[in-house]
Amino acid sequence: MKYSNLVGKTRLDAPSDADSVNARLLTQAGFVEKLAAGIYNYLPMGKKVLDKVCDIIRDEMNKVDGQELFMPILHPVSIWETTGRIKTMDDVLYKTKGAGDKDFVLGPSHEETVTPLLRDNVNSYKDLPLSVYQLATKFRDEPRAKSGVLRGREFGMKDMYSFHLTEEDLDEYYERVSEAYFNVFKRCGLKSHIIEASGGAFSDKFSHEFSVETPAGEDTIIVCEKCNTAQNLEIAEGKIVGPDEKEEEERALEMVEAKRGFSVEENAKLHSVPESKILKSVVYEVEEVGLLGVAIRGDLNVSEVKLENYLKKQLRPASPELLKKHGLVQGFISPVNMPEESKIPYIADHSITNIKNFVTGANQPEMDYVNVNLGRDFQIDDFTDLVEVKSGFECNKCSSPLTEMKAIEVGNIFKLGSRYTDAFKFKLTGKDGTLKTVYMGCYGIGTTRLVGTVVEASHDENGIIWPKSVAPYMVHLLTIGNDDNVNKHADEIYNSLKEQGIEILFDDRDESPGVKLKDADLIGIPLRLVVSKRTLSENSVEWKVRAESDSKNIRISDLDTEIQDFLSN
Ligand code: ATP
Ligand code: MG
Repeated sequence: MKYSNLVGKTRLDAPSDADSVNARLLTQAGFVEKLAAGIYNYLPMGKKVLDKVCDIIRDEMNKVDGQELFMPILHPVSIWETTGRIKTMDDVLYKTKGAGDKDFVLGPSHEETVTPLLRDNVNSYKDLPLSVYQLATKFRDEPRAKSGVLRGREFGMKDMYSFHLTEEDLDEYYERVSEAYFNVFKRCGLKSHIIEASGGAFSDKFSHEFSVETPAGEDTIIVCEKCNTAQNLEIAEGKIVGPDEKEEEERALEMVEAKRGFSVEENAKLHSVPESKILKSVVYEVEEVGLLGVAIRGDLNVSEVKLENYLKKQLRPASPELLKKHGLVQGFISPVNMPEESKIPYIADHSITNIKNFVTGANQPEMDYVNVNLGRDFQIDDFTDLVEVKSGFECNKCSSPLTEMKAIEVGNIFKLGSRYTDAFKFKLTGKDGTLKTVYMGCYGIGTTRLVGTVVEASHDENGIIWPKSVAPYMVHLLTIGNDDNVNKHADEIYNSLKEQGIEILFDDRDESPGVKLKDADLIGIPLRLVVSKRTLSENSVEWKVRAESDSKNIRISDLDTEIQDFLSN
């Protein structure tokens, strides 16, 4: 492709509303262009990258016996009523009316189409297990479309659905797909982690997310490099590190004046103690229970998801107004000598059991207790793991330090069981003549999100660095100096590589070397070749790999073999 003909040129500046690295670089380099919030055009180079990502996914899904099909995006509303998701997914569903006032939904996912489709096309238990997938567009009215192509309102997804006669068979297939997912992300040049889905109100153990480490991620994950495992921050487990003061002598309880702010930091400073010596109280408003105090070491935070899972109730931090109404003194609440009329139940995180002579509020304005000791000065009936794990905690399995990282969820796999097959009455007569439940799994990868994730994970201050596997072109050829001989040689190289089937972009513009070199870095094609008078004087071209800092000269006669070598590695 000659650059002068290419649709989708580089821009001098990123659009002012580009809110992320991928939005900035993909737009500036001419891969995508925003139509509206969360809605993107893919220009020819963007489409090439997206196709390569899709081809990798297609290849890996075919290897796990997925059969590719293609389902409609426009869904009659009735199928969404059958599963009840017309209500539960109401916030993200795009709804529209057709002729005759018929109601439709623009598909955000395809369980509602694939289940009746397979019900009507599978006749015998002998056909199972089977798995079908598509590479298609999804619509979700995301409240906040952000981070460029990472969270769109219209976006690409590979969605695969598998059907099984037993749960064991689903379990086995789920593992195979898991492996295929790792292969997909690895082939896209990404390091991915599998993570048990976070808990919260919809907690179950039947889904996993695949996450890629990058600073742009919306999620925080806790990684053990040694075990090569990752957990979702909200439910991560790990060994708390910190002082063990069990042997410290218990000093006499004292109430002291404390003119301070509410933060642990100010508290520790005022009393000249480490933050771990502060007995922190966090008060929650719990559904059907009312107020509940949680005691935790001052330098640690409560994981609300762990707390919700433990109580099996929804909750939120109690508002200052509610605390006041209950007679609790904000910033000075503690389980020590609570006045009878404002007493609340307390639970505690294990972290408080190792500390002696705590400092904590005295349930009065600007008064603290010092030398507070568990058992002697206050009682806690219920201890559990409520701590939000952070960098420095130790892995429960291998004791090496855990690291907190930002990550992007690129894929998600679920064991759906019979939720959808029951809803659509998809059962099969088994060998023994009785009707059998059909078990289902579903497996998604955000294809457009994956394109954005590659950019987030692989770029520098000058632009994108495409891995060879998904690069729009393999070679970026440019000339320096508008010289007949230089142009002639560049043309010859271009034509010869093109004839060999090598994907090559030839910057044939009469632009300054500075502009061309800068654009090459921005676009990020793996190999840059420069032809100039100087290189020709040595019968060579300059060879520079985008991901490396050094360049070298290669003899034109060696170019073909060098390139073949480069491409096959
Ligand atoms: P998220 O928590 O990021 O909203 P999700 O749990 O809603 O994701 P799924 O319904 O499991 O996602 O969809 C499968 C995959 O589709 C996700 O892993 C992600 O890669 C991609 N995806 C989901 N929502 C979007 C979106 N709005 N824009 C781009 N990709 C998306
Ligand atoms: Mg979502």
